[in-house]
Amino acid sequence: MSFEKIARRIDSFRDDMINFQIRLASIPAIAPGSGGEGEAEKAEALLGFLNENGFVDIEVLKAPDLDAPVGYRPNILAYYRGESSARTVWIMTHTDVVPPGEPSLWSGDPFRPWVEAGRIYGRGVEDNQQDQVASLFAVKAFHVEGIKPRYDVGLALVADEETGSEKGIAYVLDHSKAFRRNDLIIVPDAGNEDGTMIEIAEKSILWLKIETLGKQAHGSMPERGINSFKAASYLVTELDKLYGLFPHRDPLFDPPISTFEPTKKEANVPNINTIPGEDVFYLDSRILPRYAVEDVLAKIREMAAKIENQFGVRIRIEERQNAPAAPPTPAEAPVVSALARAVNAVYAKEGKAMGIGGGTVAAFFRRAGYGAACWSKLDETAHQPNEYCIIENMMGDAKVFAHIFLQE
Ligand SMILES: [Zn+2]
Repeated sequence: MSFEKIARRIDSFRDDMINFQIRLASIPAIAPGSGGEGEAEKAEALLGFLNENGFVDIEVLKAPDLDAPVGYRPNILAYYRGESSARTVWIMTHTDVVPPGEPSLWSGDPFRPWVEAGRIYGRGVEDNQQDQVASLFAVKAFHVEGIKPRYDVGLALVADEETGSEKGIAYVLDHSKAFRRNDLIIVPDAGNEDGTMIEIAEKSILWLKIETLGKQAHGSMPERGINSFKAASYLVTELDKLYGLFPHRDPLFDPPISTFEPTKKEANVPNINTIPGEDVFYLDSRILPRYAVEDVLAKIREMAAKIENQFGVRIRIEERQNAPAAPPTPAEAPVVSALARAVNAVYAKEGKAMGIGGGTVAAFFRRAGYGAACWSKLDETAHQPNEYCIIENMMGDAKVFAHIFLQE
């Protein structure tokens, strides 16, 4: 009963939600590190909403940042009281956006959002405002209807997600005792088109720059040089053995295996008749959490040493990213079943616990010992030109949150 009332109320907010989206997207909350002024102005708009709609114990944690004009990065925590305070249902969204990129790739001004064919276009409208606005209006529906959520609802509206979270959720976790072990923590900052992906685990990421140094020579006199490109190519095929050395399959992930792929290749000599003395390629590895990144690295060094011996080259390995996966949230965690029930009720789909190949901001919660799940229904247009939010997704996601707020 209550859910139908709340859902109808959310439907009635459609225009207000679009307008608030547009208002938020008109404030370019770009990190100072990416050439912007930070999130302070956007945070003011959000605080206005929270103050007008029944939120309590609103707190702004200011992470010092001298590169931001105001000298800090604002992180907002706000509660809406439920029947019980035994736990809090948290929704964490981020306020910062990435720069728009090449302007000519946009069909309009990324910071003057527009509505077209059921979508809102603009920088940040999907990442992360779709679900930020959805969570705000989900709570507003309870406020207007005078219905209490089962448990307290907490909104965490944090800064600095796009450039590492050090002044965002990492700062909040260090400076606040707001989160408790039995809280439900939902991070709607990753998802898929039909809303069935409940992300609970991630692979470790290892990016390597591999530089092979031989000796340059004339193309007609290869014996006077050491062909670095040839040696590096042998190394590339050697590295393919990593698949066999770390073969475990985990059906939670798609693909279910660890992957070790040579990717970027730097140009070497500009002409055909020179034996290249230097070769640079990169390896992108996504490693299942059961394997230690250090063990993979040790194997790679062993392989490189073998090629060094075989060809007389020197191989330098430089880590460009080494991000061990956070401990996964269990597939049977309450946050997973709560999301699955709500997704079923709103979208008539079976939500499924899954792992992904890249990191999400939920990892900060997992490393701090809190179960957290990423979920959203979206087209994944984040960071792209003509980023858009499907209005029906924003409305539906608000109902998913509302459904969870009513759950026992
Ligand atoms: Zn995001």
